[in-house]
Amino acid sequence: MHETMERWQMLVLYMIALFLMSLFSGTLAIAERETTTYHWEKDEAPSGQETVFVPQPIAVEIGNTGINASLTSGASYTLSQRYKVYLSPEWDADKAYLLLQALQDMSRYASDWQQNPTYWILSDAHVAQDIDLGPDVEVQRGSLRTITIASAAFTHAHPFVAKIDGIQGRYFSKRLWRAVLRFTTYIPGVGIQHLAIDHMLQDKYGVTVHVPDYEVLTGEPAHNFSKFTFEEIMGIMVMFEEYPSGMHVTQGLKYLVRRATDPFVEYVARANTGKGYIEFTDKAFIDGITHDTQRIILHEKAHFLWDYLFDEQLKADWIELGGWYYEDGRWKTTNQTEFVSDYAHGVNPNEDMAESIAYYIVTLDKLRSRSPAKYAFIQNRIMQQDYARHTLYFANTRRPHLCCL
Ligand SMILES: [Zn+2]
Repeated sequence: MHETMERWQMLVLYMIALFLMSLFSGTLAIAERETTTYHWEKDEAPSGQETVFVPQPIAVEIGNTGINASLTSGASYTLSQRYKVYLSPEWDADKAYLLLQALQDMSRYASDWQQNPTYWILSDAHVAQDIDLGPDVEVQRGSLRTITIASAAFTHAHPFVAKIDGIQGRYFSKRLWRAVLRFTTYIPGVGIQHLAIDHMLQDKYGVTVHVPDYEVLTGEPAHNFSKFTFEEIMGIMVMFEEYPSGMHVTQGLKYLVRRATDPFVEYVARANTGKGYIEFTDKAFIDGITHDTQRIILHEKAHFLWDYLFDEQLKADWIELGGWYYEDGRWKTTNQTEFVSDYAHGVNPNEDMAESIAYYIVTLDKLRSRSPAKYAFIQNRIMQQDYARHTLYFANTRRPHLCCL
C-alpha cells in the first residue's frame, strides 16, 4: 500500500511537470537544469517535447502482470499509457521518442497490437529483420509478449540534412519503420492483420490486392492468379516506401496481382500501365525477397512514373543522356557502357530508367560506378533530393512464408 502511494505521488508530480512544460512549449528555446533537459528545436531535434528526462525513473506496472517497467522519459511514459508498450531500462529518451512516432504513424492503420502489453528489449546484437516478435512468456500474473528490436534499426532514423557527393539532401533510413510495420501487421498467435495491410496499401500507396474481376482487368480467369504471401506483400510495401513520399501513390497504378504457379510463364513480373496493375509471378519470390526481387518491385512501379508522372522535358533529357535515338522502328543507343544491366541497354529509355531507378535504390554503388551522370540525374531529377543516399537494409535470411493475403 505504501509503495503504491509513492508511485502514485510520483506520477502526479510527473504529470504536473509535464503540464508546466507544456505551458512553456514554443517559447522556451532550450532550458537546462541539473536533472531536466528539454529540447524544443523541433526541426533539428525531432525528439521535441517528448524528450523529457524525468528526475527519477518511474516504476509502472505492466498491465496486471505484477512486473514493473522503469520509465525514464516522457515518450516511454506515453508509450506505456497509450499503447501498453513498456521499455526495458536500456532505452534512451531519443529512441523511445522515435518508437513512439513510428507506432503513432502505424496506429492510423492497425490497432490490434495495442490490445495486449508488450515489453520491448533493445538489443545490440543482430536481430533477423531487426525485430523479433517473441512468444508470450509467463510472468508473475498472466503473460507478456517480449519484443526484441535491434538498436541498429534506429541508426539514421531521424532525417538529417547532409551533403553527399556535393549534393544536399535529407539523409535517413526506413529500418525502424520496417521493423514497426512487422510488429503492427503480424501478431503471433493471432495472425496477419489483413485489414490493416489492406488499409495501408490503399491509403499509402493507392493500390489493392483485391481484384473485383480478373477477367475484366487481365483478360484471364481468376484461377490463373493466387494470393500474395505475407512476406511478399511486406517486400512490396518496403520497396514502395523507398520512393520519395510524393511518389508513394502513383497515378494509374491501382492493383497488384500475383500469378499462380505456372511453369510455362517465363517473365518475372510486368507492369500493365494501361490497365493499371503490376503482375508478379513465382519467379519474383522464389528465393525470398532478394536484391533481384527488390529491384523488380521498384522497376515495375517506375513504369507508372514514366507513363503518368514524368513530363516530356524530363524524358527528353533522359533520352539525350542515354544517347538514345529511334530508328527502323526501335530504340537504339550510341552509348555502349553506361547501363546498369543488359536489359537497360537493350530495350528503350523507359526500361533504362526503370532499371536505373531500381539500382539507385537497391545497389546505388553499381549505378554510380557505371554512370555518374545517370546517378546524378536520378538523384536530382527523380528522387528530388529527398534521399541523399539510401541506407537500405536487406533481410536475406530466408523465413518460412506466412500464408496468405
Ligand atoms: Zn520494364
